[in-house]
Amino acid sequence: MGKFNTEAAKLRSLREATVKACGDWRALRGEQRQIRHGYTLADLERSLFGCRMPSAVAIINEAGWGRDAIGDFCPRCGTTRAPYEDIRGGCGECRGRALGYQATIRLGRYAPPLSQWVPAIKKRAWRDMGVVLGQALSRQVVDSIAAGHTNRPDVVTSVPVHWLRSLLRGIDHGETIGAEVARGLQLPFIKGLRANLSHRQHGSGRSMRTANSNRFALRPNATDFSGKHILLVDDVRTTGATIGEAMTVLKGANPKSVALAVCAVADPPRRNGMLRPELNRIKPPNTPGRSIPRG
Ligand SMILES: [Zn+2]
Repeated sequence: MGKFNTEAAKLRSLREATVKACGDWRALRGEQRQIRHGYTLADLERSLFGCRMPSAVAIINEAGWGRDAIGDFCPRCGTTRAPYEDIRGGCGECRGRALGYQATIRLGRYAPPLSQWVPAIKKRAWRDMGVVLGQALSRQVVDSIAAGHTNRPDVVTSVPVHWLRSLLRGIDHGETIGAEVARGLQLPFIKGLRANLSHRQHGSGRSMRTANSNRFALRPNATDFSGKHILLVDDVRTTGATIGEAMTVLKGANPKSVALAVCAVADPPRRNGMLRPELNRIKPPNTPGRSIPRG
């Protein structure tokens, strides 16, 4: 540890490493554009040899991040609760709409820093972050059960990724998070769904996402889901199209109920104006360009 003079210097170097690893939101968007035109040599190298990522716990502690309180989001669809909004029986976004799942449990809204960390789990194979957020998510599920928002699940499963895609990325992010949630809840994790190779989802827009059918299928072991309360885990819910498709296929296995657990939920854009102003003013804790004070 001779390299680090103080604990603060160590954290500063971890922060710089995260900026390098995750980039900021614009950098991630730029990379999505790049990836759509094929895997670069660096991507290949990363998937073959893995990559060195900073410690997730240190990054989370430094950012001072914590999961949402149960009352901060709609127990049905996971949308951020507006001030004074009554969310019994759903929020203004989901009330009266059939969702296909009984409850949504989330760690936070899809905004920095989660919107930096969560995509890095799959795009940078940041397994450590997947594990730590999975542990936090299992605690959030326990709190949600205690609040009476969802049934105690019998089985945990995840939204699958095609094996070729997870091989290229070096991680099945849903499984990484889901297995950790299952471990935290002391429940079995069953891969009951399989993904078919389909059009790349990144940047293909809402219309493409909804047009894509037959993306998932049941595996033979999905018979284990019959008559059970299932917890479906994914990294993020954006439009809800992917999760909706997985949910539809999952229903074919006759579960008793399905609840959703995700690291982050993207609010509908119209919600932004309704939220507490400080929520829209959050800046990522590790934006490049912001000067780091020198000691
Ligand atoms: Zn809702």
